Amino acid sequence: MTTRRLEQDPGPDTGTHRHVALTVSAFQDAIRYHARYSLGKKWEHCSSRELFMAVAFAVRDALIDRMLETEDRYQQADPKRVHYLSMEFLLGQSLRNNLSNLGMLDPCREALRTMGVDLDEVLEGESEAALGNGGLGRLAACFLDSLATMGMPGYGYGINYEYGLFKQAIDGGYQKEKPDNWMASGNPWQIERPDEACIVPVYGRVEHGIDRTGGYNPMWMDWKIIIGVPHDMPIIGYGGNTVNVLRLYSARSSEEFDMQIFNEGDYLKAVEQQIASETISKVLYPADSIEAGRELRLLQEYLLVACALRDIVRRYRKSHDNFDQFPSKVAIQLNDSHPALAVAELMRVLVDEHAQPWEIAWEMTQATLSYTNHTLMPEALEKWSVSLLEAVLPRHLQIIYEINRRFLAQVASMWPRDYERLRRMSVIEEGEQKRVRMVNLALVGSHAVNGVSTLHTQLVKTYLAPDFAQLWPERFSTKTNGVTPRRWLLQANPLLADLITNTIGSNGWIADLGKLRGLEPHVQNAKFRQAFLAVKRVNKVRLTRLIYDVSRVVVNPDALFDVHIKRIHEYKRQLLNVMQIVHQYLCIIQDGLEPPVPRVYIFAGKAAPGYWTAKQIIKLITSVGQVVNNDPQVKGLIRVVFLPDYRVSLAEQIVPAADVNQQISMAGTEASGTGSMKFAMNGALIVGTYDGANTEIMEEVGEENVFLFGLQAEAVRQMRERGSYHPRDYYHRNPHIRRVMEAFASNLFCPNQPGLFRWIGESVLDHGDPYFHLADLESYIDTQNRVAQAFNDPAGWACKAIFNVARTGKFSSDRAIAEYAREIWNIRPVL
Ligand SMILES: *Cc1c(COP(=O)(O)O)cnc(C)c1O
Repeated sequence: MTTRRLEQDPGPDTGTHRHVALTVSAFQDAIRYHARYSLGKKWEHCSSRELFMAVAFAVRDALIDRMLETEDRYQQADPKRVHYLSMEFLLGQSLRNNLSNLGMLDPCREALRTMGVDLDEVLEGESEAALGNGGLGRLAACFLDSLATMGMPGYGYGINYEYGLFKQAIDGGYQKEKPDNWMASGNPWQIERPDEACIVPVYGRVEHGIDRTGGYNPMWMDWKIIIGVPHDMPIIGYGGNTVNVLRLYSARSSEEFDMQIFNEGDYLKAVEQQIASETISKVLYPADSIEAGRELRLLQEYLLVACALRDIVRRYRKSHDNFDQFPSKVAIQLNDSHPALAVAELMRVLVDEHAQPWEIAWEMTQATLSYTNHTLMPEALEKWSVSLLEAVLPRHLQIIYEINRRFLAQVASMWPRDYERLRRMSVIEEGEQKRVRMVNLALVGSHAVNGVSTLHTQLVKTYLAPDFAQLWPERFSTKTNGVTPRRWLLQANPLLADLITNTIGSNGWIADLGKLRGLEPHVQNAKFRQAFLAVKRVNKVRLTRLIYDVSRVVVNPDALFDVHIKRIHEYKRQLLNVMQIVHQYLCIIQDGLEPPVPRVYIFAGKAAPGYWTAKQIIKLITSVGQVVNNDPQVKGLIRVVFLPDYRVSLAEQIVPAADVNQQISMAGTEASGTGSMKFAMNGALIVGTYDGANTEIMEEVGEENVFLFGLQAEAVRQMRERGSYHPRDYYHRNPHIRRVMEAFASNLFCPNQPGLFRWIGESVLDHGDPYFHLADLESYIDTQNRVAQAFNDPAGWACKAIFNVARTGKFSSDRAIAEYAREIWNIRPVL
C-alpha cells in the first residue's frame, strides 16, 4: 500500500544512525488512514485515546518495515544472538521514544499541529508498560535500547502481565494501591502471534522407565498444560537501522486439557480451570528485592523459561540440523536468578527431547547461559521448597538433583572431607524444609557471573559466593550498569540536549556518550554556564507546575531542588533523609538558624503492598510535609513534597529539574543504582554514600563534583559482625540526633494520631538500627550543609553540574552492552 509508506526516500546512507526523511503530509495520510481503517472513525471525530492509537499505528508501520528488514539481515548473516531473560521490563511509554529513534519527532509534531492537535497531549495519553518494579526491570529496558542502537542481534523475553505494577494514590498521607490495567484501552505496540504459541507442561509425576538399550528413561506423565502466547514489541534503536523484538508471553489455557474435564460433563469446572491457567500472567509481583515464595510466581518463572527456550531452540533448529553450533550461535543472559530454572529446562530439552548425552548437554548449557546477580539482601534470594518443585516440576527437580550430585562430587574431589563447604555450595539447602537455592543453581549452570558495579561484584565474591569465586575465579566479572542517554537525556531533557549539541557542534554524543567530554572546555565560558543554568531553571519551573497540580504545594523554582526518588525500602534509607530534614526544621523553629538557601525536598516512590515499614515511611514523609509546609516560622525556606505514583514517565519529568539527588543507601546494600546515572547526565549532583556505583561516578566526574559521606561497606560489615554498633551512643553523644529522635517520639508530626511515629525510636534505639541511620546522620547533616553553601555560588555550582554531564559517558548502557557483548556473549553488531 504505497500511500501508507511513510518514508519518502531514505536518502544517502550516513552510517549506522541513518534517520529517514519524511514528509509531513505522508504522516498526516498515515494518521488519517489508521483512524479510518484501524479504528473506524474520521480522525476529526477521534477521542484523544483514538488519536494516540492512530498516531501509534502510523509509527508502528515504520517499525514493522524495519523489524522485517532487520530479521532478513540476521537471517543472511546467521550471527550469534543474545536472549535476555527477565521477569521484568520496565519500559514506560513508547511513542516518544519510537518517534525520536526514527527521527520522526519533528515531522509528527508538525503533522499534528496542522491538524490542530498538540503532540505533547497525544504523548501523555499513552498508558505506560510498567512491567517491572524498579531498577532491575528498567535496566532490562535500557539494555534493549542499547542492543538495537548498536545493531546487536538481541532479543528480550518476558511475561506479558495483564496488570503491571500497581498505581499509587496517596490518601490521608498513606499509600493506596490501585490496579494497573494497562492493556484495557488497547496496546498498539504488541503483535500477537498465536501461531507461535508454546505448549508448557506442568505438575504431574515422573515414571521411571527403561529404554530398549537398558538405559534410564524417565517419563514425565499426567501433566497439565499451559499455553504461552507470544506478543512481540518492536524495539527500535537510535537512527532506526535496527529494530529488535521484545517477546512477552501471555498464559492461555489449553483446549485439550479442558476438554478432558469437559468430557466428564463438568462444563463450568472446565471453564474455571481455563480461567485458572490464564491467571498465571495476570499480575506482576509488586515486591522489589523481596522474595514472593508463591506457587503462582514459580509458574510465572517457568512459563518464561519454558517458552523462551522453546523459541530459542526452534529458531536455532530452523537453520542447523544438529546441536554442535548451539553455544556458538546462542547466548542466554539470566537477569537475576528469577529465570534460573533455565539451567534445568535447557538440560531437559537437550537430554529428554533431543537425546543429547548428559555430559555434552551440560557443557552446552554452561557455555550458553550466563547470570547477572542484582542483590545480596538475604530476603531477596529465591529458594523454592523441594516439595513445591516436586509438585509443579517433578522432572526438573530430578534434573536439579542430578546436576547437584555431579557438581558436589567435583567439589569433594578438590576439597575432600570439607563437608561444610559442600553444605554451603549445594544447590539444595538442607533443613527441616529442604529448599532449592536458585542463586546456586544459576552459578553452577553459567559460564559467566557478573555483579552490577565494582563494589557489588567484590561483595558477591567475598560474601555471597566466596566458595564459587574460589572454584571458578575466571567466571566472575563486573559489568557496571548504565542507562540509555536517548530516553534519559535526549528525550527527557530536549533543551539540555540542544544546548549540548550546539555547544559541541555535533550530536554524535547521542550514540557515543563519551563525546560529552567535548563540553569540558566550555565550562570556563560564562555564557555557556548561564545557558546551562537557564535550561535547568526552565525544567524546574515545569516541575513546579507539576508539583502544584498533584499536591497543591507552591514551591519556589529558585530554591535548591533536592530529590529522593526510588522504591521505598529501609536499606535505601528515606528515613535518614527525613531525619536530616527534621533537624533542619528544628534548627529554624527552635534555634532561629536559617539555612543559606531555600530548599525543596522532593520524594517519590512506591512501597511493596505488604511492607509495613515502607508504608509507614511514606506516611512519615507526608506528615512531616504537612507540618513543615504549613508552619509560618519556616517562611518557605523548606518545603517537603511527596509526588504520588512514581513511574518512568514521572522520573522523566523530575530528573531534568533536580539540583541534587539522594543516593544514601547503607553502604554495601545497593548493588548499583541507576537513578544516580540519570541524574548525573542531567547535571544533578549526587549526595550519597560509598555504595553501589556512587564511587564509580565519583571517580569519573571528580571528587569535588559529588558529595559522598558516611561509613564504608567494610566498616559497616565489621561493626555488624562484632556487634560494636550501638545507636544509643550516638543518641546520647549528639544533642542534634537526640532532638530529632525526640521529635518522632513526641506527637509533633502526628498531632491527631498520638504515637504514630514511635516505631522509629523502637526500631532505631531498641532494635539496633539495622540500617545504621544514626551512625551516618551526623556526617549526612554536615554534608547537606556543605551542599547548601556550594549552591549559594551559582557559577561554581554550574561548573560542578556541567562536569557531571560532561563526564558521565561511562554510564551509558551502550558501554555496558559493549562489555557484555565482548566479554560474556561474544556477539557483534550486524549492520
Ligand atoms: C531508574 C528507575 C529506578 C531505579 O532507581 P534507583 O534509584 O537506582 O533505585 C526505579 N524506578 C524507576 C521508575 C526508574 O526510572
